[in-house]
Amino acid sequence: MLLRRLFFLALILLCDRASAQISPSIPAEVRKAMEQLAKEPFRAHMAFLAADLLEGRGTGTRGQELAARYVAAQFEVLGLTPAGTAGTFYQRVPLREVTVVPERCSVTLTENGNRVNLKWGEDFIAPGSAVREDTEVEAPVVFVGYGVTTPDGSYDDYAGVDAKGKIVAYLSGAPPSLPGELRAHVGAFREKMRRAVAHGAVGNIVLRPPQQDAILPWARSVIGMRFPSMRWLGPDSRPSDTFAEMRGGAALSTAASERVFQHASKSWEQVLSDAAGSKPQSFDLPIKAKIQVVSRHRETDSPNVVAVLPGSDPSLKSEYVVYSAHTDHLGIGPPINGDSIYNGAADDASGVAALLVLAKAFKSLPHPPARSILFLATTAEEKGLLGADYFAEFPTVPRKSLVADLNMDGASVFYTFDEVVALGGPSSSLNGVIERDATLLGLKLIPDPQPEQLGFVRNDEYSFVRRGVPAVLLGEGLHARDPKVDSKKLSDDYVRLHYHAPSDDMSQHFDFDASVQFMQMNFLVGYDVAQAPERPTWNRNDFFGKTFGHE
Ligand SMILES: [Zn+2]
Repeated sequence: MLLRRLFFLALILLCDRASAQISPSIPAEVRKAMEQLAKEPFRAHMAFLAADLLEGRGTGTRGQELAARYVAAQFEVLGLTPAGTAGTFYQRVPLREVTVVPERCSVTLTENGNRVNLKWGEDFIAPGSAVREDTEVEAPVVFVGYGVTTPDGSYDDYAGVDAKGKIVAYLSGAPPSLPGELRAHVGAFREKMRRAVAHGAVGNIVLRPPQQDAILPWARSVIGMRFPSMRWLGPDSRPSDTFAEMRGGAALSTAASERVFQHASKSWEQVLSDAAGSKPQSFDLPIKAKIQVVSRHRETDSPNVVAVLPGSDPSLKSEYVVYSAHTDHLGIGPPINGDSIYNGAADDASGVAALLVLAKAFKSLPHPPARSILFLATTAEEKGLLGADYFAEFPTVPRKSLVADLNMDGASVFYTFDEVVALGGPSSSLNGVIERDATLLGLKLIPDPQPEQLGFVRNDEYSFVRRGVPAVLLGEGLHARDPKVDSKKLSDDYVRLHYHAPSDDMSQHFDFDASVQFMQMNFLVGYDVAQAPERPTWNRNDFFGKTFGHE
């Protein structure tokens, strides 16, 4: 008898684990809607999207069309309003696919008349050009540190060198001393290319510091190159984010990067140590490089899926809080351990599953929030945030009416947590909302523990930020609620073994109670933003607000 009662008690405690912390100060009807944020439907959506049947949802493939179709069907079942183009749930994104032909790519370094041919995969990889199928450049090489100049000029790797007509060689990443958001912005590929072009460079070589291999092994970067890259095409058929002035580019392995400095005026060790110390640096290298890159182009398209839950306030309903998650993953690729389907279960079947469960919870509210909620399942995120970027550039509702984006790329799936991280949060008034809502859920908002990963600019939310829309990516901190769980190991293992690998599938050990926490957090923040009298604002003097905001 006692045993049975104890068992019953334990069962209640277990079932209630994720929701135990919800504060009674949350209005009853909101708490009721939050009961929809359950792990069963979450798991079901995620398992469907991550199934081998969908073949890894590569952008432009049948598997990804099926995923988009599934999402649209769910939106329709829920009775949401189609908010794509022409009264449909879809916004088709025109794309140019670029497939590099490694056998026909080459990098040759010439030093004192000695020519060294680098080997694809071992020494270098090269992304294809979206402008020209065949491209070639031969020029002297100038080293420009990280290739970074801050907008206020206080840090400038280009100071004192002339890059005109040259190939710029720079380290991946950005100076560690810069504040996280700024560092993320200037360290991104786009900004570095823009800088290089502004200085008249005609080609680029990306150098790989050893610590980058710890983040992503070189072998996986090589595999990554075998997947076609893409750009969206505007109404003028011009590819997005391309730099026609750059006539060739390559990325070198750590060993090949070191070789570049063999006879340079400064050693590789010294270069790395100055880079780690955030010292701007640049000097001419005693080498000339010839880079030849051949790729094949193909035009295609792929859908964003868009739905709206109309708001209940007559004037605020014309404003939208966006929830986004990406349906695409890498598709079918080079086999690893005999598996060639890159399922993308955590990345981002989990985020799309959360999107669908959140939509259901919002729909179940007896009174919809004041503002409208826009649910956006993006495409081509893995191709460089293209679907979100296209939506933000050509939104299906007026761009000014987008008040915030809550992006979900990787719902929490590994361990229940008591700390929340909000990438991008500190830039806007969203942070206050997040902090308050975290407390209501028994959670604590903490600063990004891994600012060096430049997480904020690497996901779909950044496409909104670049158009002046405050955005955030919520995630769990590294502290697990259960002291027996080694959360650091779980997240390290995911990045090391499963991230962008075929083994990111449903056979991983998931804890969906964490996903419930993740959805509760996202739900409350979106709900509160949609209910607030004022829309979110950029913080005064925030870098992104100053750079992209237009208040
Ligand atoms: Zn992702």
